[in-house]
Amino acid sequence: MSRIVIKVGSNILTRKDGMPNFTNMSSLVDQIARLIKKSHEVVLVSSGAVACGRGAIVPKKELDSVEARQLFSSIGQIRLINLYNQLFGAYGITIGQILTQKENFSSRTAYLNQRACMITMMENGVLPVINENDTVSLTELMFTDNDELSGLIATMIDADYLIILSNVDGIFTGNPADPESKLISEIKPGKDVSEYIQATKSGFGRGGMGTKYKIASKVASEGIGVKIARGDRPDVLVDLIENPGQVPHTNFVPSKEGLSTVKRWIAHSSSFAKGRIYINQRAKEALLSESAVSLLPIGITRIEGDWAEGDIVRIYGPSDQYIGVGKASADSITAKEFLGKHGKKPVVHYDYLYIESDDRL
Ligand code: GLU
Repeated sequence: MSRIVIKVGSNILTRKDGMPNFTNMSSLVDQIARLIKKSHEVVLVSSGAVACGRGAIVPKKELDSVEARQLFSSIGQIRLINLYNQLFGAYGITIGQILTQKENFSSRTAYLNQRACMITMMENGVLPVINENDTVSLTELMFTDNDELSGLIATMIDADYLIILSNVDGIFTGNPADPESKLISEIKPGKDVSEYIQATKSGFGRGGMGTKYKIASKVASEGIGVKIARGDRPDVLVDLIENPGQVPHTNFVPSKEGLSTVKRWIAHSSSFAKGRIYINQRAKEALLSESAVSLLPIGITRIEGDWAEGDIVRIYGPSDQYIGVGKASADSITAKEFLGKHGKKPVVHYDYLYIESDDRL
């Protein structure tokens, strides 16, 4: 039995005319029902609210992008969830809706609260269907896309797999439409294939292959298997779990090391940072080494921002390159006071530190 987070993109769930794609939706629901019957636990992250709202209304005046997102998602989300409710209901599966936003993950308390909600639903046999709440999310505080949200959820609930379904089979060595391009079927931990990723994005969703790749690599490095595949292939979900050799996809092999739950939260929190800490070369080398090293005031050269103990801070090296992120164990006033001094307590303890620098690879 596995715990599986499935993220489905707008291009699979909606048609070009802004109506739900009934064929794809019912096929995916059939497959999820089969997985649940085999005792797998499933959490569904479903996009498509905005795309699906477009087919339901002609706005009375021209809307800016925020107004359009709010209006369309308010209508489209109901259509989608109603359809899911009917389709899953036919299998006797009870679904529950979670509409969330980035702020609900921004502090440890909020994160644990969101986690507890999902766990309670699952313990009670309710299938969570999750989307970002596009009616209230502020543009500057939004998830890049639902790929980012699904990565956060997969790590949060200790999933065994994250499956990202889009309208291509996975990551190719060039433009997927080009017959010369080949599908990359496996990406091992630490392998960088970003040179192949196309900058363009297709269709209605917010994300593109760039964010999918970034999120997939990160989630796999945290010990969770990630698969990117095409959502309208018959039996794609069941095959990915039971006969992965049968279905074209890109498989991100999970790292064996994994991460503690708290480090996973920190790994996905860098956009919530309240401050910046700049460190010297020696401290940088110590943090990038394989040993378990905390960030001490002696290695800090300057700080920016006002933060409280427990807030997230970003860490930068001597030439201002981003190194990682951590939960501060001292507030910014204390950190400033002890800056450059010997014998003081860590400003970020190793247990709450996540190194993200490419220099380590
Ligand atoms: N939350 C958006 C929607 O449901 C989708 C975001 C994305 O494309 O990833 O329409």
